Amino acid sequence: MDNIIAIANQKGGVGKTTTAVNLVAALAKLGKNTLLIDLDPQGNATTAGNLDKNTIEYSICEALLGECDINEAIFKVSSNFDIIGTNTNLVAAEINLLNGRDSKKLHNLITNIKKDYSYIIIDCPPSLNMLTINALNCATGVVIPMQCEYYALEGLSSLLQTIDRVKGDNPNLEIVGVIRTMFDGRNNLSNEVSAQLISHFDKRVFKTIIPRNIALAEAPSFGQDIISYSKSSKGAIAYLSLANEVIFRLRNNNG
Ligand code: ATP
Ligand code: MG
Repeated sequence: MDNIIAIANQKGGVGKTTTAVNLVAALAKLGKNTLLIDLDPQGNATTAGNLDKNTIEYSICEALLGECDINEAIFKVSSNFDIIGTNTNLVAAEINLLNGRDSKKLHNLITNIKKDYSYIIIDCPPSLNMLTINALNCATGVVIPMQCEYYALEGLSSLLQTIDRVKGDNPNLEIVGVIRTMFDGRNNLSNEVSAQLISHFDKRVFKTIIPRNIALAEAPSFGQDIISYSKSSKGAIAYLSLANEVIFRLRNNNG
């Protein structure tokens, strides 16, 4: 069974990219050969993976547009950690997918490389657009980052409906879990929203909580993930714990 996880939530700034990059770094640290795919034209995961989105020649855009082989777009970040980056051409690639109503293009591309990795993690854009649909169509699981703030649950039903709709074509797709991000336990609202998430998703809420941690915000500006930037930080410890939970859940889901 493949382990292909889309990190998705159409709400902006909830910690998708931070989770994608650092979950990959943590899985790599735990000895799992892992690939990160940046599917957001903002290219934040590309930058965090220390690639320059302005000069990168082959990226997921060229692969989606059929201008390169997907293998040519793979770069090594560190031991067990590979990345396929993006550049702003991804907007053109999205229009192309939309025009062709092509929701399976990424799925078809990944078929050629998935045997090389234990885990593939896809960072989605803050939109339920054709890129996110392509990610959900090739994924076996979704991880939903949620910031425990007012409005956190707003828009959630559209995401869940989209996941259900994609399941028609891709019955393997499961919600691996909801990860609470940027959590501040001193804040009553954080605790209230957290309780709401648990009543809605029950055991699908990861036990791990990602705290608000300055090192997590700083690491990308050095082109680093949290494990290489500050391996004893609260953020690094939290993402290692999340990686262990993800490994455990996928192992159990896969029987
Ligand atoms: P977008 O929807 O724009 O793609 P996103 O959901 O990918 O955003 P991030 O870019 O991961 O969200 O995070 C938004 C901002 O919050 C970034 O500046 C990031 O560095 C910061 N951030 C994310 N998680 C944490 C955390 N646990 N502690 C402190 N800062 C964080
Ligand atoms: Mg992002």
